[in-house]
Amino acid sequence: MQCVSIKKGVECGFMTAKGCTFNGGRCHPIVDQCQGCSRTVTFDSGTFCTVAPDPSKKWNGRPCNFATHVERSKSTQTQKLNPLKASKRAAANKG
Ligand code: SF4
Repeated sequence: MQCVSIKKGVECGFMTAKGCTFNGGRCHPIVDQCQGCSRTVTFDSGTFCTVAPDPSKKWNGRPCNFATHVERSKSTQTQKLNPLKASKRAAANKG
């Protein structure tokens, strides 16, 4: 349903016929860490995030996973080794 309070005209899953059902009854404005993110939108009521109703929660000790202005380091995927197979492989390579 379209928001009729903070982000007027924006489709939002929290908006119902009874009003905004988000915790607190309204979206929260962006936080300092959001500056530069392309998901911010400025309305008459302030600057808000298009995907997170409470941006401060998205920056809780780590970078927001939706942020477009943060470079993420690629996670180094560690491959699990089966010790038995590794042992057999090592033995085969010796001989
Ligand atoms: S996506 Fe994350 S960083 Fe970007 S505006 Fe929303 S909460 Fe802030």
